Amino acid sequence: MQLIFMGPPGAGKGTQAQLLAALWKIPHISTGDILRACVVAKTPLGLKAQAYMDAGDLVPDQLLMDIVQERMNQPDATSGWILDGFPRTVPQAAFFDKLICDVSGGAGSTSGKDCDLRAVNLDVPDDILVSRLLSRGRQDDNEETIRRRLQVYREQTEPLIEFYRNREQLVAVDGNRAMELVTAELQQALSGDS
Ligand code: ADP
Repeated sequence: MQLIFMGPPGAGKGTQAQLLAALWKIPHISTGDILRACVVAKTPLGLKAQAYMDAGDLVPDQLLMDIVQERMNQPDATSGWILDGFPRTVPQAAFFDKLICDVSGGAGSTSGKDCDLRAVNLDVPDDILVSRLLSRGRQDDNEETIRRRLQVYREQTEPLIEFYRNREQLVAVDGNRAMELVTAELQQALSGDS
C-alpha cells in the first residue's frame, strides 16, 4: 500500500493518515511532523525550515527531497506507507515519481502507472478549513499564516490533483463530513483492490 494524502491545511489528512496507518500497520510519514521535530531539536535543517513554516510558506523543495529520500530508505518503509504532506509541489511530485518508480519501471520510465501508488485528495471548503485551523491552535495556526497557507496550497499544491488524475491514481474524497464517515470511505476506497 503506497499512499499519498493530499488536501489543504485543516482537511484532516494528518488525522486520517495516522488512523489508517495504524490500522494497516504501515508507517505514517508526515513531512510536517518531521520538520517540526527538526525545529524543536534545533538541527541545521530545523533552523533553515523554521522561518518558512512560521510564515506559512513552503520549505524549499531540495530540503524536502532530501528528507523524503532518507525516510523512504528506512527499513520500515519497504512494504508500504502513507505519505502525508508530500509531495506538495510539481517538482516534488516529479522527484518522488522517479524515486519510487525507478525500482519498478526501470531507468527512463516516467509513466508512473507502473507503480502501486494512489493519491488521496481530501476536499474541504475554505471557510470550514479556517475555522478548523483556528480551533486547532498549532504555532503556525494564526489567521494570517492560515490565509497564506491556503493561498500557497491553491497555487502550488492543487495542480497535483490533475497530475495524479491524469495518471489514474487519484482518489477524491469529501472531507467535509464527520471524521468516522471519512475514515470509512477511505477504508472502502483503498483497501479493496490495489
Ligand atoms: P498543514 O497541512 O496543516 O499545513 P503540515 O504539518 O503538513 O501542515 O505542514 C506544516 C508546514 O511544514 C507547512 O506549512 C510547510 O511550511 C512545511 N512543509 C511540510 N511539508 C512540506 C513539503 N512537502 N514541502 C514544503 N514545505 C512543507
